Amino acid sequence: MFDLSQRQERIVEIVRKQEPITGEKIAEILKVTRAALRPDLAILTMSGYLEAKPRVGYTYKSEGFHNAIRRILNQYRVKDVKSMPVVISETSNIYDAIVTLFTEDTGTIYVVDDDNYLTGVVSRKDFLKTTLGRTDLFKVPVSVIMTRMPNVVTCNPEDKVVDAAKKIVNHEIDSLPVVKVFVGDPGEEKLEVVGRFTKTNITRLFLDLAYKNNKKEG
Ligand code: ADP
Repeated sequence: MFDLSQRQERIVEIVRKQEPITGEKIAEILKVTRAALRPDLAILTMSGYLEAKPRVGYTYKSEGFHNAIRRILNQYRVKDVKSMPVVISETSNIYDAIVTLFTEDTGTIYVVDDDNYLTGVVSRKDFLKTTLGRTDLFKVPVSVIMTRMPNVVTCNPEDKVVDAAKKIVNHEIDSLPVVKVFVGDPGEEKLEVVGRFTKTNITRLFLDLAYKNNKKEG
C-alpha cells in the first residue's frame, strides 16, 4: 500500500459511486484528457483499487482494498505494540493499590502472588465499587475486590494485534495482561506477566499506520 495522490483518490471516489464507468467519462468529470488520466488509471488498477473490464469500464475492487488493510494489520503482533505492566502483590491493601493507580498513571493494575504469577486484575470500577460499601481500605487486601483467575482475559506476545483487540471489544475491558504460560503441576498453568496490551496501544498503532511509513513493509 502507498499514498494515493489527490487526483487518484478522486478517481477512486468517482468509480466507487458510478461504477462501471469508462475512462472517457472519468476524464470528462475531472475535466482532463483521457491521455492525462492514463498513468493514474494504470497505477490504480495495478495496485488493486480498480479493475478494468474490457467494454464495460472501471469498477471498484473493494475486496482488494479490504484485503490490503487486513494484510497490513495481520502483520502486527502484541509484542510489537505492548506497554510495560503495572503489577502489585495480592497482599497489598486497597489504599496502596489506589495510590499505585495514580503514581503509575494507569487505569488497571495486575495482581500477582508471591512467585510473581498472575492471580487477578483490578481496575478503576473495582475501586469505585468499594467506595460504595464500608470497606476498610487500609485493612482489606486488593485480592478481595479484584477479578480473579480463571476469569482474567489474557493474550500472548505472539498473538496478532487484531485477535487481542477482538478480546478487548468482546469482553468490554480496557486492557489485557500479556503473559507467558508455564505448565506447572499436571493441568496447572502459571502465567508470568510480561506486558500490558491496551486500547492506547491500538490507537497508537492506528496513528502510526495513518502517518508513518509502514515499518513492516519496509
Ligand atoms: P474500568 O474499571 O476503568 O472501566 P475495565 O472496563 O477494563 O476498566 O474494567 C471493568 C471490569 O472488568 C473490572 O471489574 C475489571 O476488574 C475487569 N477487567 C479488567 N480487565 C480485565 C481482563 N483483562 N480480564 C477480565 N476482567 C477484566
